[in-house]
Amino acid sequence: MYARILEERKNSIRYAEKNSAPIHCEAASISGAVSQRACVYCGARVVLNPITDAFHIVHGPIGCASYTWDIRGSLSSGPELYRNSFSTDLQEKDVVFGGVRKLEAAIDEVMRTYAPRLIFVYATCIVGVIGDDVEAVCREAERKYGARVIAVKAPGFSGNKSTGYRMACDALMRLLPPRDDHIRKNGVNILGDYNLAGETWIIKTYMREIGVPVISTFTGDASYERLLAAPSAGLNVVQCAGSMLYLAQRMEQEFGIPWVKASFFGIEDTSTAIRQVADLIGSEETRRKARVFTERESERAARLTAPYHSRLRGKKAAIFVGGGFKAISLVRQFREMGMETVMVGTQTGKADEYEVLENLVSPDTVILDDANPSELEKFLREKGADILVGGVKERPLAYKLGIAFCDHNHERKHALAGYVGVENFTREVNLSINSPVWRYARG
Ligand code: SF4
Repeated sequence: MYARILEERKNSIRYAEKNSAPIHCEAASISGAVSQRACVYCGARVVLNPITDAFHIVHGPIGCASYTWDIRGSLSSGPELYRNSFSTDLQEKDVVFGGVRKLEAAIDEVMRTYAPRLIFVYATCIVGVIGDDVEAVCREAERKYGARVIAVKAPGFSGNKSTGYRMACDALMRLLPPRDDHIRKNGVNILGDYNLAGETWIIKTYMREIGVPVISTFTGDASYERLLAAPSAGLNVVQCAGSMLYLAQRMEQEFGIPWVKASFFGIEDTSTAIRQVADLIGSEETRRKARVFTERESERAARLTAPYHSRLRGKKAAIFVGGGFKAISLVRQFREMGMETVMVGTQTGKADEYEVLENLVSPDTVILDDANPSELEKFLREKGADILVGGVKERPLAYKLGIAFCDHNHERKHALAGYVGVENFTREVNLSINSPVWRYARG
């Protein structure tokens, strides 16, 4: 028996053809619907954690600290300090009498042992309830140690995962120095790429190919020192708009840096992204290099993936990912592979992104915002999806339904960005969809 759709959720689910009213999105999750979204603190943590020489102190019960490096396995070309996680491990007595002393002791200990230049202190739910003055503790620690100690007040009840993204962006803005107009560089910052499986390095290689320097990366393989140079860049290239468009907008307001959304997923979008950057910041020579490079690499990726297409043509894909911009790229990528997208949803998509999706997919494709597992199950079955592309929370759902799965979230170990990512993705989708195991699992 399929699950019923809760009355309050009906406006968050659409068939693409019945789009008379815009989809309901960018809103709090409905109580009782068991949303796939993570909490505010997790949203902030996933954005800040990849800064390779930063320390993260989770001020709260030990359970909150379970969101560690493991949930976003971003890679580093240098320090590995960010893979450590610290918690004040608040207990009942701290809740009654306050946790400030424990937080001060934790900062002292981290300073004594590692002497980092940058610490983020996350205030979790219970800290928001008992009212520890985390800002004051951080201010005092900055004075005492001369390091940056930045409070991220992210109790779960202050919003949803998107609120956490904004808090992380605000914390980054507190870190950045004012723009010095004497130091202007003709390079770009890459925003919203977290160097999962080395993807920031792939994008940096492409920029090098067309002669565009990368000043800073937010936050894949970032370091405190390199972040400080960000205000001198000439353009912000925003890959994951869901988490970092807000930072781009703030940097435009405060530093005058223009931004462009650019997706590096799929042949079409990767080529468009590289050419866009060249058009916006490059010389005639940069544009020529971009044209030659994208033509050569597109042709190569298309040639390498072509043998898989006969095994994938006509298969049905379902997508449930974090942001709308990635979902759009995935729909296009499946189209390049001869596959149809029958269901597409996101945790934190924006109204304009859903509008693009509606125009991109078939009229009977289901579009969902902030879905829960029973809704995903209902539409995966109803639409006869052959594969679900999602994250760690969606994986067991697909497997229990006997459907192939591809991880396109934080935990993945293969690069899925750029032309090399197209090859990896196509190979993985083919292996998963055409695995003989489904004959037995579905039987
Ligand atoms: S207690 Fe609050 S901050 Fe901690 S993991 Fe749960 S919702 Fe997030």
